[in-house]
Amino acid sequence: MDIPRDLGHWIGFGGAGGRPAQSGDARPGRTAWLDVVEPATGATFARVAAGTAADVDCAVRAAQRAFPAWSALPAAERGAWMERLAQAVEDRMDAFVAAESRDTGKPVHVARAVDIPRAILNLRYFAGLIRFRTETQSRPRPGVTHTTVHAPLGVVGCISPWNLPLYLFTWKIAPALAAGNCVVGKPSEVTPLTAWMLGQAAADIGFPEGVLNIVQGTGPEAGAALVEHPDIKAISFTGSTTVGRDIAVRAASRLVKTSLELGGKNPTIVFADADLDTAAREAARAAFANQGQICVCGSRILVEASVYDAFRERLMAHVGALRVGDPLEATSDLGALVSQAHFDKVCAWLEIARAEGARILTGGGPTNPGGRCASGWFIAPTLLEGLSPECRTNQEEIFGPVATLQPFENEADALRQANGTHYGLASSVWTASLARAHRVGNALESGLVWINCWMERDLGMPFGGVKQSGLGREGGHHALDFFSEIKTITVNHE
Ligand code: NAD
Repeated sequence: MDIPRDLGHWIGFGGAGGRPAQSGDARPGRTAWLDVVEPATGATFARVAAGTAADVDCAVRAAQRAFPAWSALPAAERGAWMERLAQAVEDRMDAFVAAESRDTGKPVHVARAVDIPRAILNLRYFAGLIRFRTETQSRPRPGVTHTTVHAPLGVVGCISPWNLPLYLFTWKIAPALAAGNCVVGKPSEVTPLTAWMLGQAAADIGFPEGVLNIVQGTGPEAGAALVEHPDIKAISFTGSTTVGRDIAVRAASRLVKTSLELGGKNPTIVFADADLDTAAREAARAAFANQGQICVCGSRILVEASVYDAFRERLMAHVGALRVGDPLEATSDLGALVSQAHFDKVCAWLEIARAEGARILTGGGPTNPGGRCASGWFIAPTLLEGLSPECRTNQEEIFGPVATLQPFENEADALRQANGTHYGLASSVWTASLARAHRVGNALESGLVWINCWMERDLGMPFGGVKQSGLGREGGHHALDFFSEIKTITVNHE
């Protein structure tokens, strides 16, 4: 697939709405563009259109025109279109993998093993689920029958972040399309490449015009215009808690549904009876996968005091073996952070941690892999100890390769520390006791609890956070329900 230097929107493929298949702006010559930068090198390699409210409006109109035909298609035919789109991505696997790595700074092998296969699976999963959906309720009574139907909402907005670009973009648009809606998607302006390629793949296979529209641009401009558009019936958002809260307020003023997947400050809790070797290996993975830029990363590692030293030794051995390097190299475990701004933010957090009294066990700042990556944004995986549970470093989301270690005295202390933040997305617990697994699992204030594992996912199971980590659940029928209006139809047949 040829990727142009200028990445425009995909609005009603083929010029519906009187505009070219992909344009930076409705008014030629007045297009504003944003640089797209490769995090591993710091070099600009493309430009992305800075979409405006006019672009969003154009996309909503295209989607509205497409909605009657798309929503009327039998579910199996919608599913078949999504299968074709999944196949089109799979057929271009190498190009998508290279683009995702280049755009985000993550190692190529991670994009190949995780990001792109999962994006394909998202499309295939919801294509299959909608074909075999059997949730309709029916209550026959003497003289009347009550039946539910799941109706699509209309045109919906999907806004996604930069950490898992195509993975999270498709995680939203797949259930939205399957349920019969038309979509206006806005990927992160930091990582627009694979969303652009998805639009190209959809156009290549003749995906019905106007059903999937992609508007590029910044959050405050294109994203806000999407949230505020009067004809958008629901907003599915994944991103930071600050932006999610703002979206919730603005959407509430129009009584528009929102699904909000937000930040986390997730605990990894290691009890003395755990298999310490496995727990240490997985705690390192949970803390530093994707450079610590996953919402479910375990950034607070809580360890029972009696095994603290033994665990710390094992953990440091695992972290010490992690290699930070060029994302193109198969030996790199960690690549670059996503942008200069994010790199600066994480560096500033390390200063705050030092000021709060952190002892740096390993890492602690930028690292330079040299060669073509000499100007990239790399930070060594960093472990900190000696901080109080209440300090900012232990309370606020850093979203980088930084994790803290804290001892706890007993189960109650572990729960107090684990639950002692405003967030509540995911927890990982390591113990040999089945009774404790159930007890702690129930007492943890988080939407996801992994016992003796981390990031073990099933796309049919609900995914989402409590407290400031979000509102609503994605996954399986939960996502289809969010993108549907459930009606009860009562027929008097006497
Ligand atoms: P962000 O909130 O800055 O941006 C997310 C998306 O929202 C981007 O597309 C952005 O352009 C858009 N946006 C920004 N301001 C907007 C506004 N005012 N109106 C509408 N849209 C706006 O988040 P980010 O920095 O891209 O991603 C990192 C954050 O995402 C972290 O907090 C992380 O925990 C969270 N995240 C959560 C999950 C989850 O499932 N809970 C998954 C991945 C990432």
